[in-house]
Amino acid sequence: MQLDIPYHLENFIGGNFIGPLSGQFIDNINPATGAVFAQIPNSNEKDVDIAVQAAKKVQHSWAATSLEQRFLILNKIAALIDENSEVLAQAETKDNGKPLWLSRKVDIYRAAANFRFFATGIMHFASESHASENKYINYTLRQPIGIVGCISPWNLPLYLFTWKIAPALAAGNCVIAKPSEVTPVTAFLLGKIAREAGLPDGVLNIVHGEGATCGEAIVKHPGIKAISFTGSTRAGAQIASIAAPVFKKLSLELGGKNPNIIFADCDWEKMLKTTLQSSFSNQGQICLCGSRILIEASVYEKFKKKFVEKTKALKTGDPMQPENQQGAIVSKIHFEKIMHAIQLAKDEGGKLLCGGNSINPGGDFANGYFIEPTVIEGLGPGCKTNTDEIFGPVVTLQAFNNVEEALELANATQYGLACSIWTSNISKANNVASRIEAGIVWINCWLQRDLRTPFGGIKNSGIGREGGWEALKFFTEAKNVCIEY
Ligand code: NAD
Repeated sequence: MQLDIPYHLENFIGGNFIGPLSGQFIDNINPATGAVFAQIPNSNEKDVDIAVQAAKKVQHSWAATSLEQRFLILNKIAALIDENSEVLAQAETKDNGKPLWLSRKVDIYRAAANFRFFATGIMHFASESHASENKYINYTLRQPIGIVGCISPWNLPLYLFTWKIAPALAAGNCVIAKPSEVTPVTAFLLGKIAREAGLPDGVLNIVHGEGATCGEAIVKHPGIKAISFTGSTRAGAQIASIAAPVFKKLSLELGGKNPNIIFADCDWEKMLKTTLQSSFSNQGQICLCGSRILIEASVYEKFKKKFVEKTKALKTGDPMQPENQQGAIVSKIHFEKIMHAIQLAKDEGGKLLCGGNSINPGGDFANGYFIEPTVIEGLGPGCKTNTDEIFGPVVTLQAFNNVEEALELANATQYGLACSIWTSNISKANNVASRIEAGIVWINCWLQRDLRTPFGGIKNSGIGREGGWEALKFFTEAKNVCIEY
């Protein structure tokens, strides 16, 4: 199949590619060059409504489609993503600014894996049965919800888009999906792939547009019964305020300010290598990045010297070139937000150990959005730099003297998404893991993902869990049936 990227992207509704009813489009920019390379539909509630009407036509037939048939179609989508992985990776990098090697290795690989995982998962999904007092038997039906909304962010565009869509479809729902307006291209291409794979028209509808208009129209539409959202805590709160009074089922995966706790007795080289990745992968724009590095005081100076040395050696520039570990920041607005946060860190009294400036790689990239990986020390847990999410290549260092101090620093934010712990003392690691306020903990590793595990955060990092049975349970309604015999 041919996956071309037209200048005007279109919505994918009822199996057709159609422009926005308003005729209005939004510029789509390559962040490495600052140039407009496509335009996307500026969809509103009318476009969302025709998508819901298209889904309504096939909602019951898709719910009644056999598990094996759903498996075959979703598995075919996975195969087509694999087959077109190079085109998709190039598109992701052009749209997002992330290094091409990362798009290939992580984003596109994982998008296919998401479909494969839930295609097979639905074949094994079982519901419960409870026998009571030798007289009654209860069995639980897990039925599709109907039409669901999936809204995703720009940092891992196709990866997170498919992480929602795949379980929703596998569970027998029709989907109205909206990718980020900042990175719409691979979502557009997914529509082509779904059609080629034989997904019936109207089962998956992809509507492009801004959060406040198109996104909110999805959340508000009475025909859409559940919302799975990944994005900022700010937008998550707004969505919850609309969905809660009408009792829509909600899954919210929100922001983070994750601690990376380093004890003196860790495997030093492994920790150093992984900490560099957990700090700056994808220019620090992964919700799971460890942006607050907490170091046992006895090795603080040693860590600082080595870590700053390694950070300075990272190469930033054209994301298509394999030698660059760092690409562009996703957009001008986000670039300015990060630069503002760095200025704030200085104003708060932070000391920049390296980085802190924008970069101009010159040539075609002179107008791109590049920032030096930045390491800051000297700020306490109460500073905004250490409490607010920056979501860029910026980390802070803080020292601690013992486990209690480490926990106090680690838990000192409103977020609770993820945490890494580095120590060779497994009892200490388990003790910290059990007391940390986070939904995901890695011990002596980072970003190891088994798709069967529950994924999500606590506190301001969200509500609910994705992954494995958690996702299939979210995208189904449990109905208990009790029989006397
Ligand atoms: P964002 O909240 O601005 O946008 C996310 C998506 O929601 C986009 O598609 C956007 O158009 C839409 N949107 C925005 N406002 C909306 C509204 N009022 N109603 C409906 N839809 C709306 O987030 P972003 O800037 O795209 O992404 C970065 C954020 O995502 C960071 O905070 C990051 O931590 C978070 N994130 C969290 C996870 C996780 O799993 N917890 C994963 C990745 C990113």
